[in-house]
Amino acid sequence: MTETCKLCELYEQRKIFTRLYEESDKVIVIQAFNKAGSKNPRLMAVLKRHTNTPTEDEKQMVEGLLKTVADRVSSQIGLNYELSVRESADHYHQHCQF
Ligand SMILES: [Zn+2]
Repeated sequence: MTETCKLCELYEQRKIFTRLYEESDKVIVIQAFNKAGSKNPRLMAVLKRHTNTPTEDEKQMVEGLLKTVADRVSSQIGLNYELSVRESADHYHQHCQF
C-alpha cells in the first residue's frame, strides 16, 4: 500500500474537480464523474483514512454520510438511488447512483 494516492489528494490537497457535497473529519462526499451516457448524478463517499482494513464504525460513517446526502439529492431531483460498496481499495468508499 502506498503512502498517498489520488483519494488522499482529494482531501489533503483539496484536489476536488467536481462538487463537494459534505465533509466530516472522517468522510468526504463528492460528486463522482459520470459514466459515459449517464446524465444522472453519481455520488462518492470516501473514508479519509488511507487503509484497506476499515473498522465497522468507519464503514457505517461512510454509509451514513452518503445516505444523508443521497436522501437530500433524491428529494431535490425526485429519483431513487442505489448504493454500492468498494472494498478493494486504499480507502473504503461507496458510490451512489440515481
Ligand atoms: Zn490514499
